[in-house]
Amino acid sequence: MEKESKVKKHQLLLGAHMSIAGGLENAILSGQEIGCTAIAMFTRSNRQWGIKNITMQEISSFKSAWKNSDIIDIVVHCSYLINIGSPNAATCKKSKITLENELKICQELGIKYLVLHPGSRLESSIEECIEQISRILDEILENSSGDTKILIETMAGQGTVVGHTFEQIASIFDHCKNKKRLGVCLDTCHIFAAGYDFRSKKNYENMIQEFDNVIGLKNLKAMHINDSKKELGSKVDRHEEIGDGKLGLEPFRHIFNDERFFDIPKILETPVGTLESYAHNMQVIRGLLTPETKKILGL
Ligand SMILES: [Zn+2]
Ligand SMILES: [Zn+2]
Repeated sequence: MEKESKVKKHQLLLGAHMSIAGGLENAILSGQEIGCTAIAMFTRSNRQWGIKNITMQEISSFKSAWKNSDIIDIVVHCSYLINIGSPNAATCKKSKITLENELKICQELGIKYLVLHPGSRLESSIEECIEQISRILDEILENSSGDTKILIETMAGQGTVVGHTFEQIASIFDHCKNKKRLGVCLDTCHIFAAGYDFRSKKNYENMIQEFDNVIGLKNLKAMHINDSKKELGSKVDRHEEIGDGKLGLEPFRHIFNDERFFDIPKILETPVGTLESYAHNMQVIRGLLTPETKKILGL
C-alpha cells in the first residue's frame, strides 16, 4: 500500500561523455562542473584490449566522488575495438576477454549500464554474426553474477556493422538466454542515419511505436543524444552539435518532453567535445523543455 502511494520523483537526466584522463573520478568532477545529472565514460583508453585491473583506491575515489556529486546515472561505453561478431577467431576471443573485463569493472564501480556496439560481420552473413553475438553475450553473462546490464547500441549501418535496424537488435535479444541482463541504448544520430525519420511529431510517434513493437520500450535504458551531419538513411555515422545538423531541434523537443523517457539517462556525444560545448548543448536542450515538463522535473 505504502509503495503504491509513493509518488516517483523525476529529474532531468542529462549529461555528456566525459574524459577519464588523470583518473576515473575526473569524469564525475568534470560532469559536475557543467551541471550534468548523467554522464558516460570509458574505463580505459577506447583503443585498449585485454584485462585492466583497477585498484581498491581507484574504486573508492570513484565512489566517493560520485556520492558527493549531483550525478545520478553513469553509463560506461565499451572500448571501440571490441567486435564479438567478428568471424576472425582471434579477434572474437580478444573481444570476449575485453568485454568480460569491462563488465567486471562496471560491477566493481557500481555502474548499472555498459554500452556495447553489437559488432561488424565483415565477410560473414548478418544471421551468422547475430547468432555469434548472442552466443558470446550469453557466455559472458552466464559467468558473471552482478546486475550490470549490457546495452546494445543502435548503429548507423556504416560498412558491415550490424544493429542498424530494430529487427537486428531484436534478433540479438531473441537468440539470447540471458535477456534480463540486456538492454538497448538508442543513439539519435545513428537511427536517423540508418533511415528512421523522427523529425515531425507524427514520425517521432511512429518511430517510437515501431521500437516498442519490435524491441519493446521496456528494454530502452539509455540514449545517446546527437544531431547528425549526414542525411536520413545515409548510413554514415557523423555526429553534430544539437540543432546544427540534419535532425535540427524538433526531434530533441519530442524526446525531452516525452514522459516515457524522463527516467532514462541521456548522454551527449557531440563532436566538439569540450566542456564548454557540452554545457552549451545542454543549455539548448533545456530551452526545449515545455513548462509542464519543467514542472514535472522540478526545474
Ligand atoms: Zn557508441
Ligand atoms: Zn556515432
